[in-house]
Amino acid sequence: MMAEPRAARRQARRDVDVLVVGGGVVGAATAVLLATQTATRGLSVGLVEPRLPSLPAANEDWDLRVFALSRASQRLLEACGVWPQVLQRAHAYQGMRVWDSVDSVDGPRALTFTAGELGEPELGHLAEVATLQAALHAAAVRAGVRMFGAGVESFTADADSAVVTLADGTVLRTGLVVAAEGADSPLRLAAGIAATVHDYHQRGVVAFLRTERSHEDIAWQRFLPEGPLALLPVASGRVSIVWTLPTDHALRVLAMDDAMFAQAVTAASDGVLGELRLDSVRASFPLRRITAATYAGTRLALVGDAAHAVHPLAGQGANLGLLDAAALVQTVAAAVQRGEDIGDPGPLGRYARWRRAEAAPLTVGMHALQQAFTSPQAWLGALRRQGLGVVAGNRWLRRQFMTRAMGLGGEAPRLCLGQSLLPEN
Ligand SMILES: Cc1cc2nc3c(=O)[nH]c(=O)nc-3n(C[C@H](O)[C@H](O)[C@H](O)COP(=O)(O)OP(=O)(O)OC[C@H]3O[C@@H](n4cnc5c(N)ncnc54)[C@H](O)[C@@H]3O)c2cc1C
Repeated sequence: MMAEPRAARRQARRDVDVLVVGGGVVGAATAVLLATQTATRGLSVGLVEPRLPSLPAANEDWDLRVFALSRASQRLLEACGVWPQVLQRAHAYQGMRVWDSVDSVDGPRALTFTAGELGEPELGHLAEVATLQAALHAAAVRAGVRMFGAGVESFTADADSAVVTLADGTVLRTGLVVAAEGADSPLRLAAGIAATVHDYHQRGVVAFLRTERSHEDIAWQRFLPEGPLALLPVASGRVSIVWTLPTDHALRVLAMDDAMFAQAVTAASDGVLGELRLDSVRASFPLRRITAATYAGTRLALVGDAAHAVHPLAGQGANLGLLDAAALVQTVAAAVQRGEDIGDPGPLGRYARWRRAEAAPLTVGMHALQQAFTSPQAWLGALRRQGLGVVAGNRWLRRQFMTRAMGLGGEAPRLCLGQSLLPEN
């Protein structure tokens, strides 16, 4: 009998019910969903992001950061109301072709995935991150999310509430903090949540190149001993590359002149799309695997790279993060429906167990794949080629891979399956 007035009192002292920290794609999507879904619309939501994104002008060249978005991510972005805007700077891809550098792209061990095999119109979309992020921020503002433009300085939490202090001195009391500030998550550290970190000592080199031959709307990926090279179709005759290389090698190719760089990418791709020509500046990102010991703490939920940063070889990092966002919002909605405090250990534990069980096989699998493809050990090389051959020749296995890559396997959140957030009563 005493619980209700106490709960009401502590709620009254809060500045917002939920504070999302980090307005990357995952954090911004979480805030938009919480503020717009019928089941959670009653909650007040804040979003902390020190680097406000702006929408690129229509005539501006694409930002170098491009994500391969799965069907599950598409559905989530549809639920956020931003998909039509995202589509304006996105390109659908119909298939994937993956092969080992010791084999030929047309050999029996080359893996081919096609949307047609699954009866889908496409396997996914390559989308510009700048547009995606700006569209989500605009949607958050429209939905009445309170925006804070200074980074987080400190975080404390107890059974009653969490308190976040920003760099500009703002102090915010809330019932639930969502840590979405990326792989180095200061909130994860402040909460004392341990994380295993594996530095690959590699960088992902990104750029746009023009192709001599049509890319056929296929995502091409060649596994070389130094790391994979992905050629992702972003427009007619243009690909976005993600070339994984050991750090010193990456710095060398970044220092090459444009023509030499294009020649090096052409050689690394085995000329699969003919001669390539550089069509943008270049950039590179350090690659690490980070896994948080748990995805929840006291009044804290981790989403996206704050919970798990993965190797980009399968283009799954942001997709995994968007699945977290959908799962967290679904868990919060169910808690609201039951009259629970959304920051209590019950709902947070349910979210953490759910997403950790779903993400762990994928993060471990991607790490194993990365190790198998770059290991100098001959037996691993033979095993890897045999493995590719087995998957290439087995329709059922290929379907399993594709379903997972589309974010539709396992216990997918309802929004990602195109369903309402909660089952209808
Ligand atoms: C080369 C490369 C290619 C990739 N390609 C793909 C792909 O094709 N598909 C895919 O799904 N994934 C891909 N990824 C992975 C993807 O980039 C990440 O998984 C994704 O960006 C994670 O999103 P996030 O919102 O969790 O974190 P982030 O994108 O890191 O966003 C974190 C946000 O938090 C903010 N922030 C940081 N510190 C603070 C603070 N103290 N207070 C408040 N805010 C803060 C930052 O400004 C930032 O906006 C790729 C990664 C790399 C390196």
